[in-house]
Amino acid sequence: MKLYKEQEIYIYNSISKEKEKFEPITEGYVGMYVCGPTVYSNVHLGNCRTFLSFDLVFRYLKHLGYKVRYVRNITDVGHLEDDAEDGEDRIAKRARLEKIEPMEVAQIYTVDFRDIMSKFNALPPSIEPTATGHILEQIEAIQKIIDRGFAYEVNGSVYFDVLKFSETHEYGKLSGRRLEDMEANTRDLDKQSEKKNPQDFALWKVAEPQHIMRWNSPWGVGFPGWHLECTVMSTKYLGEQFDIHGGGMDLKFPHHDCEIAQAESCNEVSPVNYWMHSNMLTLNGKKMAKSTGNNILPTEIFSGDNKILSKAFSPSVTKFFMYQAHYRSVLDFSDEALLASEKGYRRLMQAYDLVDKLPIGNTSDMDIAAWRQSCYDAMNDDFNSPILIAQLFEAVSYIQRVHNGTAICTESDKEILKETLKAFMFDVLGLIDEQEGQSGNSEMLSGTVNLLIDIRNDARAERNFDTSDKIRDELAALGIQLNDGKDGTGYEIK
Ligand code: AMP
Ligand code: ZN
Repeated sequence: MKLYKEQEIYIYNSISKEKEKFEPITEGYVGMYVCGPTVYSNVHLGNCRTFLSFDLVFRYLKHLGYKVRYVRNITDVGHLEDDAEDGEDRIAKRARLEKIEPMEVAQIYTVDFRDIMSKFNALPPSIEPTATGHILEQIEAIQKIIDRGFAYEVNGSVYFDVLKFSETHEYGKLSGRRLEDMEANTRDLDKQSEKKNPQDFALWKVAEPQHIMRWNSPWGVGFPGWHLECTVMSTKYLGEQFDIHGGGMDLKFPHHDCEIAQAESCNEVSPVNYWMHSNMLTLNGKKMAKSTGNNILPTEIFSGDNKILSKAFSPSVTKFFMYQAHYRSVLDFSDEALLASEKGYRRLMQAYDLVDKLPIGNTSDMDIAAWRQSCYDAMNDDFNSPILIAQLFEAVSYIQRVHNGTAICTESDKEILKETLKAFMFDVLGLIDEQEGQSGNSEMLSGTVNLLIDIRNDARAERNFDTSDKIRDELAALGIQLNDGKDGTGYEIK
């Protein structure tokens, strides 16, 4: 029997602001769309937090036996600077500054993004469509919206008519913004605008002669507005109505409210059943962002090459740090927090490696079946990874007690313990046992330490105690203790 028949998931739906029981449109199948990166520069750790939050959702749904179609797009056109209606296209600007083709910019940062995601052991989505690969579909959608009376053309650009739409629909229902507030917040209020109303947004923009990303359309040469690609690609691959749509909190408005308006004007149905938004990763208490420079890159963390770090941290440790907070909570990045996560991560991995070596008892001091269910309960409650991790640490302390002889565990419970830990640590959280993967490194380490032991023996034979003591003391400082016995010298990692 599929696990999803036994486990009930509750998802916090950003549109109803309530936790709702998850019931997919088609039993056993889930359609999930997540807004992907705008590929004009390297992804920072904040972006990664959002993508890793949805990797956890994808992995857990798959673990429960759902067949998940996970679509995450690549934005390679249309996302303008400062999210403004009249800013420069981010990719085109980069191409202009670096004197390369826009598609080269997109390629460089798409490759970087995929490389970083695979270092984090995030699963690739089922479909990864690009905005530039769906220009025709976007033009068709614009035509449909014009035909339905919710968009108008001016000077080769097409705008969505927010006030017209609002006569019959609720614009802004996701973010809860009111039309009057939107007007007050619109930048081009004082400017001479070709839009009918300041709240209107672009579906298609005319390309000025110097604009290098351009396509033919019924309205002249231009390029699509940013919000449209997600409506078009989600409905193309998941249908007019699908189960889950995700993204960072900052995308609720205007991006997702615009997506809803576009989809409702094309298809007259609400496109998404469960809207999920992940909260921000902050640095020095402020949102990590490309534009402000307040960010850290994953590669800087993996190499330790950033002045705020005391050392390098592995992708699994970095991910473990992020999953120790719930995806809807703000999380602040710091060296201390990563150091603490690294300790916890090592304790968890060491405990997992101990399970096989535990002695077998005729009864168990812990209710393993109840503990297993509490791991599921944590994830069923809106993917609560910090509670899950707390449950994993309950098992860690039990394993240590059994190992020390102060508790006992039956053979069958030991098996359930191992299977459950394996499922949640590796399949659901997607962690990697880095010790295990480093057998090559451990050979290198033992070769190096044995060489130093030989050099120390030679030094001692020559009564060069300065050198022999130096080798012993400096290895000890690195956590490698040399033990002199009657059969020679061995070493131990402390
Ligand atoms: P972008 O490449 O700017 O389109 O952003 C890609 C994703 O990263 C979006 O879902 C954003 O909401 C998300 N994002 C941007 N900054 C942060 C942050 N500081 N913390 C978490 N997610 C973020
Ligand atoms: Zn999107």
